[in-house]
Amino acid sequence: MAESKHLVVCGGGILGLYCAHYLARDGHRVTLIERHGPEHTTCAEGSAGYISPSHVVPLAAPGMVWMGLKWMFNPRSPFYLKPRLDLDFIRWGVRFARSCNAAHVARSAPVLRDLCLASRELFVEFSAEDAGGFELERAGLLMLCQTEEALGHEAELVRLANELGVEAKVLDPRQTAEVDGSGVQMRVAGSVFFPIDAHLTPTLLMPRLRARVAEAGVDVKWNTELRGWRTFGGRVAAVQTSAGEIAADGFVLAGGSWSGELVKSLGLTLPMQAGKGYSLMLPAPRRSPRIPAIFVEKRIAVTPMGRTLRFGGTMELSGINDTIRPERVRQIVESVPEYYPEFGPDDFAGVQPWFGLRPVSPDGMPYIGPFAKFPNLYAACGHAMLGVTLAPITGRLVAELVGGRRPSVALDLLHPDRFA
Ligand SMILES: Cc1cc2nc3c(=O)[nH]c(=O)nc-3n(C[C@H](O)[C@H](O)[C@H](O)COP(=O)(O)OP(=O)(O)OC[C@H]3O[C@@H](n4cnc5c(N)ncnc54)[C@H](O)[C@@H]3O)c2cc1C
Repeated sequence: MAESKHLVVCGGGILGLYCAHYLARDGHRVTLIERHGPEHTTCAEGSAGYISPSHVVPLAAPGMVWMGLKWMFNPRSPFYLKPRLDLDFIRWGVRFARSCNAAHVARSAPVLRDLCLASRELFVEFSAEDAGGFELERAGLLMLCQTEEALGHEAELVRLANELGVEAKVLDPRQTAEVDGSGVQMRVAGSVFFPIDAHLTPTLLMPRLRARVAEAGVDVKWNTELRGWRTFGGRVAAVQTSAGEIAADGFVLAGGSWSGELVKSLGLTLPMQAGKGYSLMLPAPRRSPRIPAIFVEKRIAVTPMGRTLRFGGTMELSGINDTIRPERVRQIVESVPEYYPEFGPDDFAGVQPWFGLRPVSPDGMPYIGPFAKFPNLYAACGHAMLGVTLAPITGRLVAELVGGRRPSVALDLLHPDRFA
C-alpha cells in the first residue's frame, strides 16, 4: 500500500462522494466538505440514473452549434440558451464551437468508451458489496426515433459504437416493442438498442454512498463552505472554509458547476457552465416501459425506477440560478404522449418538477487530474450528462493519481489545464 495521506474533497455531490470512497479505500485519511446538509439533493438525485456506455459521442460534436442556434428560438425545443453579456460564458461558447468537429469526436469517443465501460464494472462491484442496494438494472437503453431522419442519424452512431466495440443495433417498431417487452404502446419509426447500458435509482444510491463513505471513516463536514485557499511553495496547503482552515496533503475539486469559480482565486482557468435539466417523477405510473428510453428528437430520457417512472431532459444554459421555466417543463410533459400514446398531461398532474445543474466543460469532456500549477490539487468535475455514469471511475482515477499509480484510463484529453 502507498503512503497514507490526508486529502480534502471539496463538494459532496456524486463525484466528491466517489472520490472520497476510493481514497478512503486506499487507506488515506479523507475529509469531505459540503456547504449544504446531507438532506440537500445534489444533481445526481434527480438524474435519469443512466450508466451509459452508449454515450461515446461528446456533447461537443459536429452539427451541435447549428442545432443549438435553431433550437434557441423555439420554446418547445430541448435546448435553451439565455443570451447574456458574461465574458466567461462568451469564451465558453467560442471554445464549445471550436470543439464541435469530427476530429474531436474521433479522439474523444475511445476515451469515453473506456471510462464508461470501466465505470459500469465498478457500479456492478459496488452494488455486489452493498447490502442496501440501489436497483442497479442491466437492461440496456432504447433510443426511440419518430422520424426516418433521426433513425438514419442514430444508425450512423451505431456504426461508430460498433467500431469501438460497443454493441448496438437498429430495431424496427415491432422489434422495439419485443425488446422492451412491457406492452407499453410506442409511436416510433424504429429505435437503436444498446444492450450494455444500465440504470439505477439515484435516490437510493446517494444515501447508500453517503453511508458507505461515513462507514469508511471519511470525516464529512456538512454545512461547510469552501471560501478560499492557502498556497505555499507551488502547492495548495489548506482550504479556508466557513468552519476554519483545513490543512492537508492533497485536495480534490468536485464542486460541480461551481468548480470554475472556486479555483479562480488560485489564478486557474477552468471553463464551466451550468446546464440545467429538469425531471418529473411519476410515483404510480399507469404503465411503465421495462427498458429506459431516450426520445431522440426531444432529447428526453425515460427511466423505470422500481415502481416509479422518471422523465428528464432539456439543456438550459442560463447561468447558475434556481429558476424553473414552466415552458421547458411543459416541453417534457407534452412530448411524452407523442412517443407513449397511452400517457397524457393528466399523468403529470400535481407532479413537482425537479431541476439540477450539470457541470459542462466546453468540449463535453470531464476534467480529471492534477493542475500543473498546483500538482496536489486534483480536478474531478465537468462531467455534464455523464456525471452519474463516470463517478466511480473518476473516483478510482483520482485515487490512482494520489497513490502515484499509473491511471487505468489515459487522461491526456481530460487535463484540467487544457483551456488555460
Ligand atoms: C435532468 C438530468 C438528468 C441526468 N441524467 C443523467 C444520467 O442519466 N446519467 C448520468 O451519468 N448523468 C446524468 N446527469 C448528470 C449528472 O447528474 C451530473 O453530471 C452529476 O450529478 C454532477 O455531479 P457533481 O458531483 O459533479 O456535481 P453536484 O451534484 O452539483 O455536486 C457539487 C457539490 O459541490 C458543492 N459545492 C459547490 N460549491 C461549494 C463550496 N464553495 N463549498 C462547499 N461545497 C460546494 C455543491 O453544494 C454540490 O453539492 C443528469 C443531470 C440532469 C440535470
